[in-house]
Amino acid sequence: MLEPAIVNGKPVRSSFLHPFKHSIGKEEIDEVVDTLKSDWITTGPKTFKFEEIFFEYVNSKYAIAVNSCTAALHLAVVALGIGNGDEVITTPYTFAATAEVVINSNAKPVFVDVEKDTYNIDPAKIEEKITDKTKAIIVVHYAGHACEMDKIMEIAEKYDLYVIEDAAHAIGSKYKDQKIGSIGDATCFSFYATKNITTAEGGMITTNRGDLADKMRILSLHGISKDAWKRYSSEGSWYYEIAYSGYKYNMSDLQASIGIHQMKKLDQMQKRREEIADMYNKSFGQIPQITIPTVKSYATHAWHLYPIQVNSDLLSINRNEFIEALKAENIGTSVHFIPLHLHPYYKEKYGFKGDDFPNAESLYKNEISLPIYPNMEDKDVEDVISAVKKIIDYYEV
Ligand SMILES: *Cc1c(COP(=O)(O)O)cnc(C)c1O
Repeated sequence: MLEPAIVNGKPVRSSFLHPFKHSIGKEEIDEVVDTLKSDWITTGPKTFKFEEIFFEYVNSKYAIAVNSCTAALHLAVVALGIGNGDEVITTPYTFAATAEVVINSNAKPVFVDVEKDTYNIDPAKIEEKITDKTKAIIVVHYAGHACEMDKIMEIAEKYDLYVIEDAAHAIGSKYKDQKIGSIGDATCFSFYATKNITTAEGGMITTNRGDLADKMRILSLHGISKDAWKRYSSEGSWYYEIAYSGYKYNMSDLQASIGIHQMKKLDQMQKRREEIADMYNKSFGQIPQITIPTVKSYATHAWHLYPIQVNSDLLSINRNEFIEALKAENIGTSVHFIPLHLHPYYKEKYGFKGDDFPNAESLYKNEISLPIYPNMEDKDVEDVISAVKKIIDYYEV
């Protein structure tokens, strides 16, 4: 049995350090209360204000606020006309949402293995998976590290494919000098509780294409060609038309109230994430038992996650036992991700065997996401560092 805390005396921390925590302050709370006391609580002026702040921040022409990143991804797939019999190239190293929106549109996700250092889709392996059914590539900027977009856009252009970016981790992230949000046809962000900014639940799609923006906005609210706010306000009328069979994906002003203030704090919060990543990098950089995240010269990392690789050859414990040992030290962690092709649904539907994407499998086997969020105190970060070092000292071989 594994009992590092007991064997070595008392745990590094006396109270549990959560793996994620949001940063909501008085400004967000006051704005939500203001909205609740106003005449309009669902999609309206605050949602449009949030959208405007957002597209200005990422330097895109349009932004459409929705109720999740999953909804954003689904709208992008549908609006681009991807459906029956089509194939979409993506990464297995992601969350369920990235591929399920393809499957739920009657198209097929075609996985391409990831790069061993960035965990991102390997551009060099994309072309061999392209067929005459391929319509799009969905990239995932894992942990907040941008994919190699020049190479991906070049392939997309050559084969006439759409590019959708799953930027659930990547607000504030840059590819070269460009913020993530305006490179592909559509970019999808998440404001889920654990993400770099949150509205509890929420998402945003950004695009530079006016036609796509219009279609996604209409699809986000039942395919109705005028939104409710305009319909019921003094300038609107009772008349509306259904242009498509749509969805109910709109964001409410209550959520946007939180988002507006999260955006104001974003740069500050990113700075704190960077400081924490620096502390980890300095402390872990020379320890052979773990590998710290790689940051390529083309990437400005958003540090949504701080993923380490445990080199279990140099330890008498494996990754799972390392996680248990950290828990015994009162440090909460997580694993990102269990590759999609290893899940029962994908194995049964597509016949994956478990040795299909070696880089994804090996990264998954050894990955631990250490806590990284803006309201961690220096002491919290130091506790994580002490706990990791204590465990390595005890179990090194
Ligand atoms: C969180 C996440 C999503 C889904 O975001 P929601 O807003 O919860 O729908 C999609 N892709 C990735 C990579 C994620 O981490």
